[in-house]
Amino acid sequence: MASIFSKIVAGEIPCYKVAETEKCFAFLDINPVAKGHVLCIPKKEVDYLFDLDEQLYGELTLFAQRVAKSIKKVCPCKKVGVAVLGLEVPHAHIHLIPLQSEGDMDFHHHVKMTEEEFKKLAADLAAAFE
Ligand code: AMP
Repeated sequence: MASIFSKIVAGEIPCYKVAETEKCFAFLDINPVAKGHVLCIPKKEVDYLFDLDEQLYGELTLFAQRVAKSIKKVCPCKKVGVAVLGLEVPHAHIHLIPLQSEGDMDFHHHVKMTEEEFKKLAADLAAAFE
């Protein structure tokens, strides 16, 4: 069965899309720990990030770098933090989280965003993606 993220890539489940390349896809985390929390995934479904072949791992890392630059432009933050968990969804993904302080990288704390806020943020990030 396809992962929830494969369904997002296929357009079968909606998402707040931020960026896309031939091999990679980025969208807002639906339960963000900070405003601007983005997930970067390979379109190909592989459970564990570090099982990706070298080529795709490299492409995903460079894609995440580009997405992090758009987050830095759009979201007020000191730096964009990176995390890899993968305990919930078995489709490799890199979390990018704008940080003002260490406490912003807290996966037990979530921020509430309205539908409109999600839409605007995704559109702003998409526009800033280079
Ligand atoms: P983990 O696998 O532990 O890295 O966590 C999976 C992440 O995916 C969590 O931060 C969820 O909030 C996020 N997530 C799960 N389903 C969706 C979805 N349909 N759209 C966006 N983010 C999701």
